[in-house]
Amino acid sequence: MTATIMDGRALAADIKLQLVEEISMMKSLNVEPTLATVLVGDDAPSKVYLGSKHRAAQEIGIKTDTFHLPGTASEEDLSLLIKRLNSDKGVNGILLQLPLPQHLDAEKMIEIISPDKDVDGLTAVNMGKLFYNRGVFVPCTPKGIMAMLKHYKVQLAGAKSVIINRSALVGRPLIHLLLAEDSTVTVTHSKSKDLLAIVRQADVVVTAVGRRPRFVLGREMVKDGVVVIDVATNRVEGRLCGDADFAEVSKKASMITPVPGGVGPMTVIMLMTNTLIAAAIQNDLKGSTVLT
Ligand code: NAP
Repeated sequence: MTATIMDGRALAADIKLQLVEEISMMKSLNVEPTLATVLVGDDAPSKVYLGSKHRAAQEIGIKTDTFHLPGTASEEDLSLLIKRLNSDKGVNGILLQLPLPQHLDAEKMIEIISPDKDVDGLTAVNMGKLFYNRGVFVPCTPKGIMAMLKHYKVQLAGAKSVIINRSALVGRPLIHLLLAEDSTVTVTHSKSKDLLAIVRQADVVVTAVGRRPRFVLGREMVKDGVVVIDVATNRVEGRLCGDADFAEVSKKASMITPVPGGVGPMTVIMLMTNTLIAAAIQNDLKGSTVLT
């Protein structure tokens, strides 16, 4: 079997065209969707990720306001900035780039973001809505994964899905999204016993470990016909790759996402979608296509 490559770049480009149309409608009504991004410190990967988000916003026509605090900024400095952005009517969405420097409590800082502007969907209010299947701002990576699964018509109802990750960014929100599609969901992590036996049963595997070479999703770990969503970003000899041994796993899988070019571009485009959703809700644009 040779796997179908799930092309996140192409799908994100299609969605981008829809967002460009939507934004021109918004601008004709004098609404200018604006995303405020906040970076604390000089973490190099964070700068790269933020750069790609800014580029995408610019291409679509979303205005970005960039705030860069020094790595020595205190919780008070950061909370003052977030509160200012919460009350700024010209800002629709707030993105706090993670990770924060160690002396800052990320969960506490995220909670300061107004749930109405929480386009990353990470506040307890938005996570709670997701739990009840009423998510407005769904975290971007899981939302992008679900869009890919839908686009490639992956059968989820009744299928066994195994998530290898339990973070708030990826695994936890994904549990609810997959459950809402009637999948039978198993979540695994670093303390899981007999991972091999669990993953081998899966019809859909979502892997987001990012600890190469200590963890590699090998061919022996998956069953024939599996759908593999590889979220991880590892650097091996300067090259970006996921958790899966791509060449080998794609011989057994029916579908697989590449790294790069899979989940990454979908995450970025979902951030843009969430920003337009925020702008539509805040401006009471009930007919907006992003709300359907
Ligand atoms: P994280 O919080 O470090 O999560 C890693 C998860 O892997 C944890 O749940 C951890 O378990 C689990 N794990 C570690 N070693 C394991 C092992 N040997 N067997 C099974 N599970 C193991 O990181 P994250 O923020 O969720 O990100 C994970 C990866 O996804 C990273 O490579 C990151 O760069 C990538 N990512 C990509 C995107 C994208 O848009 N492409 C978005 C988000 C994240 P414990 O909970 O027990 O520690």
